[in-house]
Amino acid sequence: HTSADPINDVEKEVKEWARLKKTEIDALKVQEKFRRDFLSNISHEFKTPLFAIQGYIEAIQDDDLEDKEMVRQFLDKASRNVDRLSYLIKDLDEISKLESGELPINYSRFKINDLIKEVIETLEIKAKQHHIKISFKQKYDEPTTVNADRQKITQVLVNLLDNSFKYGKQGGTTSVTLFDLDEQVLVEVTDDGIGIEEKYLPRLFERFFRTDASRSRQIGGSGLGLAIVKHIIEAHQQTINVRSTEGLGSTFGFTLEKVKQVLPFPALPILKS
Ligand code: ADP
Repeated sequence: HTSADPINDVEKEVKEWARLKKTEIDALKVQEKFRRDFLSNISHEFKTPLFAIQGYIEAIQDDDLEDKEMVRQFLDKASRNVDRLSYLIKDLDEISKLESGELPINYSRFKINDLIKEVIETLEIKAKQHHIKISFKQKYDEPTTVNADRQKITQVLVNLLDNSFKYGKQGGTTSVTLFDLDEQVLVEVTDDGIGIEEKYLPRLFERFFRTDASRSRQIGGSGLGLAIVKHIIEAHQQTINVRSTEGLGSTFGFTLEKVKQVLPFPALPILKS
């Protein structure tokens, strides 16, 4: 191709190249900030329980502490913080494996209503400890076979139910509801607890994000549960969303691919000759 103004052409090309490089550099800067924030979040999340453990141990080591009951209480608290650290490590391990693609989605066909009932049963004791009732409603009668990773969807249900206990209301109810969306099923987990301020909703699924309410109430958690949930649902090419009213409660809903039932041929009428 020939041009009337080759110098102008070269200048244009150089400018275009510079523009592309700048976009690349900007993307790297975003990544770098993300990595830095991630590390600082991790160290912050580890520091809190570690300092607490250190504090309780020092208090026990204190020569004046002869009160056996007090020692027992401090050990209990230290042990709860050790638990928190191990949950944190487990969640971190899980999310890094999910993100690196080390945990591919293992599709199988199963009945989602059976899985929901199973998960509710295993969490019944935990719900009782929080004085919360769990109810399950199915909004349609059809078979509810889905095509998904059974183990990972179990984790999604556990994380959402666990949150509904932590942020739910004592004496309240968590409802799991199953809807038919024709091509998909929709599973909703609803609580009548503290709810979420609207301004926080867009950030809820970010790693380590926790609202001020959950931080100030000292509710245990890593801030990774919902990030894991989102990752799993999106890896299934499905969607997850949340709606909430502060002070009234929240609903988390996710979809799954429904397996359409192939009906057997209707029996032919017997023809009489
Ligand atoms: P964690 O519960 O470990 O803090 P999650 O990723 O599961 O982390 O949740 C992130 C934040 O979203 C929580 O800290 C809490 O502020 C908010 N949240 C999650 N579920 C609910 C809920 N059912 N009701 C109110 N707030 C919630």
